[in-house]
Amino acid sequence: MAPPLASSATAPGRPCPLCGSGVADVLPAASDEKGHCFPRRRCTRCGTGFLDPLPTAAQLNAAYAVSYYGEGATKFPAPIERLREAAAVGRARHLLRGLPTRARILDVGCGDGRLLRLLGQRAPAAELHGIELPGPAADRAAAVPGLRLHRGTLENAPYPDRHFDLISLVHVLEHLPEPGAALDRLTRLLRPRGRLLLSFPNLASLQARCFGTAWFHLDAPRHLALPPPEAVRQHLIARGLALESLHHACWEQNLYGWLQSALNALDRDRNLLYERLKGNRSHLPERHAAVALHAALAALLLPPALVAELTALLARSGATVEMAFRSPS
Ligand SMILES: [Zn+2]
Repeated sequence: MAPPLASSATAPGRPCPLCGSGVADVLPAASDEKGHCFPRRRCTRCGTGFLDPLPTAAQLNAAYAVSYYGEGATKFPAPIERLREAAAVGRARHLLRGLPTRARILDVGCGDGRLLRLLGQRAPAAELHGIELPGPAADRAAAVPGLRLHRGTLENAPYPDRHFDLISLVHVLEHLPEPGAALDRLTRLLRPRGRLLLSFPNLASLQARCFGTAWFHLDAPRHLALPPPEAVRQHLIARGLALESLHHACWEQNLYGWLQSALNALDRDRNLLYERLKGNRSHLPERHAAVALHAALAALLLPPALVAELTALLARSGATVEMAFRSPS
């Protein structure tokens, strides 16, 4: 089942940012936490959903203000950060499997450098590279021992082709205005038998289809394009890569997605609980009672959310997915 269309007619606009097709349906606009609306379309060829037009620089600067990364030394309070750390430890172990001792590793959109720090602790001979836009997250990443940080974008990163044994993009692909061109560059950057790890929201998932514009992972205007996993698979296979694994289980993202999406469907204050969990006290500071109500509702919704998540797992329809690809010899 596809997301509902605002109009069955196709409309002119920018080409699909994954496959380049010029034909796309109009989707209902996505809204942010402040109620601003962002028009969306979906490519009729590959199914990628994307904002069209792209948000302005001013809109993106506002969306990536300090509150996006958390106002404290970390993005979330300590208990949630411990869960994120545990998830990153699991990912680091998974990534290091089969890598050469002196592997050259790149994390695109490395945030505060958490994953690279963990990789460096477990593989001290590895060469660690990260890309992050200038800002508070990059400042934190710069403190990771041994990390070679490029403060900028993938497009202007000065790496030669066939340079990396492992490239990861953990919830980054959806933030890129041109994911197709980015995947093409990443394919060229991989050494023979190199691995590319992608995790990103799944627009074709049960959760996305249940909640439409209330879906937590829609996250406009930060998420510029949401290619379905099958479209990503076809794009990379056409460029010579092989799919090694596709995982639908991601508890720290997918279970919370059910809860926050349900809250978004019930109340106009989108992501109110999520913003408070991030410690963003400037977001609707007068809504104390609503925050308590949202927290109570989230507790009540936890059992059905667990059932929904198990159903999604059985249906192999995770709200976010993790895909690993291998370049040819
Ligand atoms: Zn497309």
